[in-house]
Amino acid sequence: MAKRDYYEVLGLSKSASKDEIKRAYRKLSKKYHPDINKEEGADEKFKEISEAYEVLSDENKRANYDQFGHAGAQGGFGQGGFSGQDFSGFGGGGFEDIFSSFFGGAQRQRDPNAPRKGDDLQYTMTVTFEEAVFGTKKEISVRKEVVCHTCNGEGAKPGTKKHTCSYCNGTGHVSVEQNTILGRVRTQQVCPECNGSGQEFEEPCPTCHGKGTEVKTVKLEVTVPEGVDNDQQIRLSGQGSPGENGGPAGDLYVVFRVQPSDKFERDGDDVYYHHSISFAQAALGDEIKIPTLNGQGILTIPAGTQSGKQFRLKGKGVKNVHGYGYGDLFVNIKVHTPTKLTERQKELLKAFAEESGEDISEQPSNFKDKARRFFKGD
Ligand SMILES: [Zn+2]
Ligand SMILES: [Zn+2]
Repeated sequence: MAKRDYYEVLGLSKSASKDEIKRAYRKLSKKYHPDINKEEGADEKFKEISEAYEVLSDENKRANYDQFGHAGAQGGFGQGGFSGQDFSGFGGGGFEDIFSSFFGGAQRQRDPNAPRKGDDLQYTMTVTFEEAVFGTKKEISVRKEVVCHTCNGEGAKPGTKKHTCSYCNGTGHVSVEQNTILGRVRTQQVCPECNGSGQEFEEPCPTCHGKGTEVKTVKLEVTVPEGVDNDQQIRLSGQGSPGENGGPAGDLYVVFRVQPSDKFERDGDDVYYHHSISFAQAALGDEIKIPTLNGQGILTIPAGTQSGKQFRLKGKGVKNVHGYGYGDLFVNIKVHTPTKLTERQKELLKAFAEESGEDISEQPSNFKDKARRFFKGD
């Protein structure tokens, strides 16, 4: 089934304000909440509403969705749905907040039948400098909780029945009276019979023992986005832990660690390359071969280039991960002073100095040793 537009799901226009989104969600989720609405399809509808709200209530996610559609909201990188700095996803605040506001805060937390979003997971992926610059696809193996394949998350052995827990009447908690120094106090505790699930099984599922989930190693294909940088992340929507009671699954965040290059230094979208030239090249000018991200390039060194000079090759850097063009390639030039000279080279340099009007008192290359000898007095 094709996914419906999130705005359409909530019955809103694209220009809806934050408050309008919140109001629409409250109204619709009340109407379709599985605890309230027992009609067929209400559950699906509720999930759809929750998902739409989760995206539209988050500024970053909404912007991505507006730009890239469902692919954007799900972190489908190929379509550009990337929010490198979006760390707000952890904890899934929005979904919880809105629920507590109308199901009554703390009480909802104890309601074992309320839908809960699954946990978000994080995976750190190491990529080479080149993989980050050009992007690639990689397969990863993630060990995580998945819906139990035997009972499909029900917790009961297939073919056996599930009952409402008779001890707590399905609420998952029981009231206990306790004597304290303040007198008799009634407190609520997790039901000891059903451990808060509100249900008891005729026979629990043999695979998950009633939990509804099992741990498996899952293979996933991850698109390493072109231009991704260290510590940036993508979100694989719904690839986290499974939700409970019809709540949406959590998300999987893939955080990238980029290995350094042996040729280049990277700073954001810009790349730096260091190159040494000889004194003659610097003085007379030359054309030199330099490595670029795509292969090789020719850089013209003008006559009279000073050591420390920086050349900028515009647009030869890394492609911006958000699609804002390319960075630059900077070539830092150092003029190399020769350390070993032949007699002829020395003669030529002396002649050069003389021609420049310089009076040079020549020193050996191991000046430090000589200075030490001088101070010792020999
Ligand atoms: Zn099971
Ligand atoms: Zn119970």
